[in-house]
Amino acid sequence: MTKQRALILRIIRESQRHLTADQIYQEAIKEMPGIALATVYNNLIRLAEAGEIKKITFCGQTDRYDKSNIPHIHLICDRCGKVSDHPSEGIKEEMEGRLGFAIEEYELAIHYRCPECC
Ligand SMILES: [Zn+2]
Ligand SMILES: [Zn+2]
Repeated sequence: MTKQRALILRIIRESQRHLTADQIYQEAIKEMPGIALATVYNNLIRLAEAGEIKKITFCGQTDRYDKSNIPHIHLICDRCGKVSDHPSEGIKEEMEGRLGFAIEEYELAIHYRCPECC
């Protein structure tokens, strides 16, 4: 793994948020001032392909990157845009039972108003 890729992976893993490529770039240049935005993008694609991270797309928003490859529910506050993770054990099995076929992959996003915005 290149130094750049290791740095990007560390930024994503250490973040409690779901960062956009631009936010990852802003963090990366603090530690590696010469790093190019294109390098960040290329590494994000490679890391997602390798299954190290997961690219997530919420309707109408910029792509974000998630450190967790384990399926989970995203709770999205429509007021402030905050995204938090929630475990989703049992949901796949439940839905497979209802649908009658095996689910390859799923993305579940719940829109709500977070406690700070209530
Ligand atoms: Zn909120
Ligand atoms: Zn997540």
